[in-house]
Amino acid sequence: MSHENCIFCKIAAGQIPGKRVFEDDQLIVIHDINPAAKLHLLVIPKRHIETLADCLPENPADQALLGRMLALAPNLAREQGHGYADGAGGFRVVINTGPDGGQEVYHLHMHVLAGPRPWKRMG
Ligand code: AMP
Ligand code: ZN
Repeated sequence: MSHENCIFCKIAAGQIPGKRVFEDDQLIVIHDINPAAKLHLLVIPKRHIETLADCLPENPADQALLGRMLALAPNLAREQGHGYADGAGGFRVVINTGPDGGQEVYHLHMHVLAGPRPWKRMG
């Protein structure tokens, strides 16, 4: 299942280090190595899926995985001190897809960004 030479497969397998903040049976969450904001996390499925466009809307496993990734974001932001509460704080989630989407690593991942503006440009 793990793809040779895929950096996120290697991080998920513990073959190269990553600053992990969360792990469950399906996902790992690490700090981005080149943060574009004060908080910049990557939510990475352990299963190698190249892009969001490879997820099928009718596939229950893909639905569950994507739902889990998205639903985790508010918890992660809160735990890292950037939750949205009482009209303040907040965060952004981004999934770059394909060259025009600015995707650099072809293993599905969701960015969680937060913190004071301005943020660095992503791609
Ligand atoms: P994307 O452009 O959506 O494919 O984003 C890829 C992200 O992965 C970029 O924000 C990179 O800074 C980040 N990245 C690349 N290699 C690593 C790594 N070894 N550990 C953590 N983040 C990484
Ligand atoms: Zn991979």
